[in-house]
Amino acid sequence: MSLDFDIRGVLRTSMLDFPGKLSCVVFTNSCNFRCPFCYNPELALGKPSEPRIPVEEFFSFLESKKKWLQGVAITGGEPTLQPGLLDFCSRVKDLGFEVKLDSNGGNPSVLKKVFSKSLADYVAMDVKAPKNDYSAVAGVEVDSELIEQSISLIINSAPDYEFRTTVIPEFISEEKLVSIGKWISSLSLSGKPKRFFLQQFKSDSRMIDRSLENKNSFTPAQLTAFAETLEAFFGEVGVRGI
Ligand code: SF4
Repeated sequence: MSLDFDIRGVLRTSMLDFPGKLSCVVFTNSCNFRCPFCYNPELALGKPSEPRIPVEEFFSFLESKKKWLQGVAITGGEPTLQPGLLDFCSRVKDLGFEVKLDSNGGNPSVLKKVFSKSLADYVAMDVKAPKNDYSAVAGVEVDSELIEQSISLIINSAPDYEFRTTVIPEFISEEKLVSIGKWISSLSLSGKPKRFFLQQFKSDSRMIDRSLENKNSFTPAQLTAFAETLEAFFGEVGVRGI
C-alpha cells in the first residue's frame, strides 16, 4: 500500500532536532499557517523547490541506518496535514526508531490519534502567541480553541514534549510571554507543564514577510530574563539560538 506522505527533504543526521537522540529529520510539504517569520516559506506555501522524495526511498535509507540513528524527527511544513502521517510513524516505529513530531497544534484530532496509537515519543509544539492574539502571529485566521485542545492533549497524553515560542519584538513582549505561560500551565491536570523554550528570532531573507528582514531581535540578556520569569509556569525553561 502506498503511503500518502509528501517528503521534500531529509537531513540525514542531526544531534539537535530530537532531544537526546541522534536522528534524521524529515521535512514534509505544506502548512495551514503563514507565520510572517517562517524560515521555510516554500514548504509552508506548498511550493517546494525540491522534488518529492519517494517514501520507499526514505525507508531504504532508514533501514540502512539502523545501527546509527535512534530517531526520526518529522517537521515541515505541518506534518499533521499529511494523510499518511499515522502509517508513516507506525512504519518508523516498527523499524525500532523513536518518533519526534513537530506541530503547530492546528490539528488536535490528528494529534489525538497519534497519541492513542502511541506513535510519537516526543512532541514539540509551537505556541505562537497568547490565546486572544493568535491569528496575527500565525498569519491566518486560527481557531485558538483548536490550539488549546492540542496543548491540553500534549501535556496530558504525550510521552514527552516541549512547547516553544519564537520571540520577535514585533509580536511578542514579556507580558505576552507571561500570558502564554499562564495559558499553557492552566491546561495541565497535574503540576507544571514540562518544558518551554524561547527561540531567538534571526532576521533572514527567506522569511514569508520580507518586511521583517531588518528587524531587531531581543538581546540575549532580555531573553534570559524572560526565561527566568517563565520558570514560574514550567518545569524547565530554556533559550535557543543565542
Ligand atoms: S507553522 Fe508557521 S513557522 Fe511553522 S511551517 Fe507553518 S508557516 Fe512556517
